[in-house]
Amino acid sequence: MNERVPFLDLRIRDDLERVTLLSSIERVFLHGQLINGPEVVELENLIAKFCGRKYAVGVNSGSDALFLALKSLGIGPGDEVITTSLSWIATSNAIALTGASPVFADIGNDLNIDPESVKRLISGQTKAILPVHYTGRICDMMAFQEIADKNDLLIIEDVAQAFGAKKYGKMAGSFGKVACFSMNPMKVFASCGEAGMILTDDEKLYERLLALRYNGTVNKEVCIEPGLNGRLDTIQAAILLERFKLLPEIIRKRREIALWYNDLLYGVVGLPLERREEYNVYYTYTIQADRRDELKTFLESRGIETKIQHPILMPEQPAYKGKAKGNFSNARSLVQRILCIPANEKLTREQVEFTAENIKAFYRS
Ligand SMILES: *Cc1c(COP(=O)(O)O)cnc(C)c1O
Repeated sequence: MNERVPFLDLRIRDDLERVTLLSSIERVFLHGQLINGPEVVELENLIAKFCGRKYAVGVNSGSDALFLALKSLGIGPGDEVITTSLSWIATSNAIALTGASPVFADIGNDLNIDPESVKRLISGQTKAILPVHYTGRICDMMAFQEIADKNDLLIIEDVAQAFGAKKYGKMAGSFGKVACFSMNPMKVFASCGEAGMILTDDEKLYERLLALRYNGTVNKEVCIEPGLNGRLDTIQAAILLERFKLLPEIIRKRREIALWYNDLLYGVVGLPLERREEYNVYYTYTIQADRRDELKTFLESRGIETKIQHPILMPEQPAYKGKAKGNFSNARSLVQRILCIPANEKLTREQVEFTAENIKAFYRS
């Protein structure tokens, strides 16, 4: 494949980074606590502190984080959880696997779940709202807090795409009763495999999560409720502890690339412009474009790799279509227009300019 402008590049070609990561793995080999080892505890403490939360539970994926968080809150059959219609399918799968029903709200032009749409979908069965900070931009959490307070609902944040994002100076992951993270290799804060994290301030939930993370057991042997194995590998935690040191630079670079695109593409396509109260981390830089599919093909022919995240709305997936409640007309039209253009932190100014020039060339032709 032509790699002139790759969407992502997961190779670790920086010698210093590679050596540093390898020696962090070596330390794990030497102490031998391969699962839930000291690096897991260190990472949990670090992330809890970073997000201003009391407790953190490392788990083996963002999908597990969501599922276990919902289970720990007692959500199950007969309950409804309102979430967005545009997200990675893990979000609604976690709800459905508890036995509860996902209810799909519409999105705003910022691609985040729309509070007005959520209000209209609340029923006697609604237990929780699950907002996703999509593309690395925090949802309108003030509105959701108000809705939750008024209707006695829980909030579970899906922070998989937004590690390090802020709104009104508050960190992503500091808003919900529970917050769920993914650190899979595609995310802004990325391990070299699968990894996830759950944050909360509630001690009882924390203890239940610790049990749920390992077959519902306490004291290693006694099972108090059914569970699966969702523990985090120590090697991934060790890698994440090193990567955490690089995170400020990764976020700085992604934000810089976003500013470049904002300048270069102003007036050409719809742009994810940041509002004054926001500090976005640009998990994706998602434009809204006329003739989106043609543009994508054109860019591909020039060696520019793009992605549509995600081309199928969650309620329109075969697993949910015709079975789920919801209201998502704006999402239906936006999903035809969204395109994620390369914006990873390894790109150069030249690659960003090349991408922008080709987008402009497409609309001139
Ligand atoms: C990546 C992602 C997940 C799932 O995380 P995994 O670690 O891949 O299981 C959940 N929700 C959203 C919004 C995501 O982007």
